[in-house]
Amino acid sequence: MQNPIIGHQQVIEQLEHTVASDRIAGAYLFVGPVGVGKETVARYFAQLIFCQQDMDSPTACGTCLACRKMNSGNHPDLQFIGPEGRLLKIGQIRELQKQIIYEPLEASRKVYILTDVDRMTDEAENCLLKTLEEPPAASVLILLTSNVRALLPTTRSRCQILQFHPIPSQELAKILVEQFSVAPEQATALAIAADGAIGTALTHLEKGDVHTEEVPEILKETDPLAAFRLAEHLKDNPEALGELVTWYRDLLFLQQGAPIELITHVHSIAELQYIVPRYSRLRIQQAIQVVLDTKSLIDNTNTNASLALEVMCLKLLK
Ligand SMILES: [Zn+2]
Repeated sequence: MQNPIIGHQQVIEQLEHTVASDRIAGAYLFVGPVGVGKETVARYFAQLIFCQQDMDSPTACGTCLACRKMNSGNHPDLQFIGPEGRLLKIGQIRELQKQIIYEPLEASRKVYILTDVDRMTDEAENCLLKTLEEPPAASVLILLTSNVRALLPTTRSRCQILQFHPIPSQELAKILVEQFSVAPEQATALAIAADGAIGTALTHLEKGDVHTEEVPEILKETDPLAAFRLAEHLKDNPEALGELVTWYRDLLFLQQGAPIELITHVHSIAELQYIVPRYSRLRIQQAIQVVLDTKSLIDNTNTNASLALEVMCLKLLK
């Protein structure tokens, strides 16, 4: 059976090899942006471990009893643990520790997928460390996070870390058109809005939240209220920071008379051309830098995101 996962080919091959050669580690940490496919790959990894077919193929067969149980979402040796409310709490980790010592019911190993582990409380993380240090032989822990820096170095060092990268926007747009019948003019906008994370793009699509190409207000306005409205929007949709950069980049390209193929938001080109004369080249470059700096600050540090976004939006007005 071909694995049905889009992207992450290298990670998948690595996991298939790991299972085929029976060198499965006790704990893994999957790191990558929200919606990029970490959970999908974690499920597939569990299926590889559970699959009962002979070892002549490194992929999961899709037809054995274990594979069918996985596909219908009820394999007894797979457990999900995620934040209850906002946090992953110590009680949940203690419960895991109580259960993990028992032998698996059907497979050779039990698999625990822990989602959003960056939302573990400190006590929960310290408690989990004990299990990560010496995971029972017949178990595999797969930790998922979009914010690896929120974890203790000791947590990270006890796991085998696998990185998940977004799919380049152009490539994702192509996939959306070819495999999900999205209209080409929507696909690009959707791919950019999702920052290359396929799960996020599909969630938007499912919710009918298909991006209409509208020039962000902040490019046109000098009113501080516009800055606060944008900051509010970005607090709930941090992935839109990447998209904001693409608008400023278009302004820069238009100002320099770049060929139209380089313009991302071609459907808004007339409006952008109308806006361009208000900007100096330096101001556009500064705007791009401010957005990128803020994104990096939010992604990589424990900064107060709300405050950072407000400061950024006010700077964009100047
Ligand atoms: Zn199978």
